[in-house]
Amino acid sequence: MTKPLWAPWRLEYIEQADADDGCVFCREALGELPESESLVVARGDLAFVLLNKFPYSSGHLIVAPSRHEADLAGLTEEEALAVHRLGVDALDALGRTYDPQGFNLGWNLGRAAGAGITSHVHLHVVPRWGGDTNFMPVLADVKVLPEHLLATRDRLRSAWASR
Ligand SMILES: [Zn+2]
Repeated sequence: MTKPLWAPWRLEYIEQADADDGCVFCREALGELPESESLVVARGDLAFVLLNKFPYSSGHLIVAPSRHEADLAGLTEEEALAVHRLGVDALDALGRTYDPQGFNLGWNLGRAAGAGITSHVHLHVVPRWGGDTNFMPVLADVKVLPEHLLATRDRLRSAWASR
């Protein structure tokens, strides 16, 4: 008897995918989504942090420059530093919230490298645990996560606010 896989945010995404227009990171950067729907966890002047809608693990965050820029080399010194600093802050917020045993940080540049959004560069911050038993990338692209994205977002917003 297999356990049911429940990933409601993926269903929501599939239903909304056709309706999406423009760059989702820019929409979040501009605050176009209501706070209740936004996946943004923290904002800086030049960059911001949001939850990945397609997480590899619980608490999978993305740090993006607020300005729409496709080229990593096109970031200004200030933007590159802002993304780096928010990435470091993300390690702290995730560490205090989920107590991960390690992290992967990285840039997926180009579709062949796994980038879902290629027009707006972004840094992935992925917490990891030994064994990563919830990591199921092979099975129909379904990943089993113990916590809904919006609940994760609320926990990380609180952790960020208490820094
Ligand atoms: Zn954009």
